[in-house]
Amino acid sequence: MSSVKVPFLDLKAHHDPIRQEVMVAMNAVIDENAFAGGKFVTKFEEEYAKFCEAKFCVGVANGTDSLWFSLLAMGVGQGDEVITIPMTFLATAEAITYAGAKPVFVDINPETFTIDVTKIEAAITPRTKAIMPVHLFGQCADMDPIMEIARKHKLFVIEDAAQAQGSKYKSRLAGSIGHAGSFSFYPGKNLGAWGEAGAITTNDAALREGMQMYREHGQKKKYYHDVVGWNGRMDGIQAAVLSVKLKYLNQANDGRRRVAARYNQLLAGLPGVSLPVEVEYAHHIYHVYALRVAQRDTILKLMGERGVSCGIHYPVPVHLQNAYANLGHKRGDFPISEACADSFLSLPMFPELTDAQIDTVATEFKACLAQIKS
Ligand SMILES: *Cc1c(COP(=O)(O)O)cnc(C)c1O
Repeated sequence: MSSVKVPFLDLKAHHDPIRQEVMVAMNAVIDENAFAGGKFVTKFEEEYAKFCEAKFCVGVANGTDSLWFSLLAMGVGQGDEVITIPMTFLATAEAITYAGAKPVFVDINPETFTIDVTKIEAAITPRTKAIMPVHLFGQCADMDPIMEIARKHKLFVIEDAAQAQGSKYKSRLAGSIGHAGSFSFYPGKNLGAWGEAGAITTNDAALREGMQMYREHGQKKKYYHDVVGWNGRMDGIQAAVLSVKLKYLNQANDGRRRVAARYNQLLAGLPGVSLPVEVEYAHHIYHVYALRVAQRDTILKLMGERGVSCGIHYPVPVHLQNAYANLGHKRGDFPISEACADSFLSLPMFPELTDAQIDTVATEFKACLAQIKS
């Protein structure tokens, strides 16, 4: 095993330049004892709503709670169905299950890896309450037709924007288009906390009130509980960290776009390899740079041996996970998602990757392709 030449993600490189600024911000939280919810959370909520060009933001504990509380605030529960994609992180489906509803899958578009809008209507039943498109890898789903279908069938739309902080659909920011936008600030996301955090954006005052209630044990007034909620508050230290990091988010996203452009240039035209595409309506923020290649597992292993850490997002689509065996799906039900799961390879991606590192990734990738041919 050679040593790592290019890591998959280098959070230290990302944090070193802002470490002092973040430490000062964290100290302010300690001085004020504003640890669970509180004024630093309110401040971040205002800043993040503004950033997303949404009216409101509700800070929560993580990006799974944000999906769950969105559904609960919309009244989604037992016997209801929510449409989403199987090519996503499990949390998307988990939130639907924990709301008491059933995830109903629609396959993805093979170019964008987001929900195939031509297949949504066939999945709608009298029990359907919401559509949950996922802005996978940082590129938005095709929101105009989704909102049109939702209007026609009176459904809610929750954008799973966990991978899309600062991503755009046409001129609009991810999270500002649906009835709610759900964000994760897990440390590895484009905007990452120094711990766990999440947020919901919405333009609807009634939904915001519901989300605030569910994150706080179902109470509007302390110790008076209208519904059974949960402890899903954002913590003050994370809010303070995120307020600092938000100032640098667009710059970091631009850095990822620079990396993607260089990969696209260096890897163009390789037979049997398909590179990610930024479609016309999108401003892609490359949370993940996933290309598709045959013999992916072998290439992943060879890249590791050559000192380049790659990943797979995701090796098993949700409908084939053991956790969802009860839904009764089988291989063949969502062929595009399955083919992607078998061929996706995520290359190292973070804003601080140097041109020399990107060149190393490309050179080693080409060498792996040559190696499996011989
Ligand atoms: C990360 C992620 C989540 C869950 O966020 P957590 O903060 O880890 O709970 C949900 N959906 C998608 C698509 C994600 O990538």
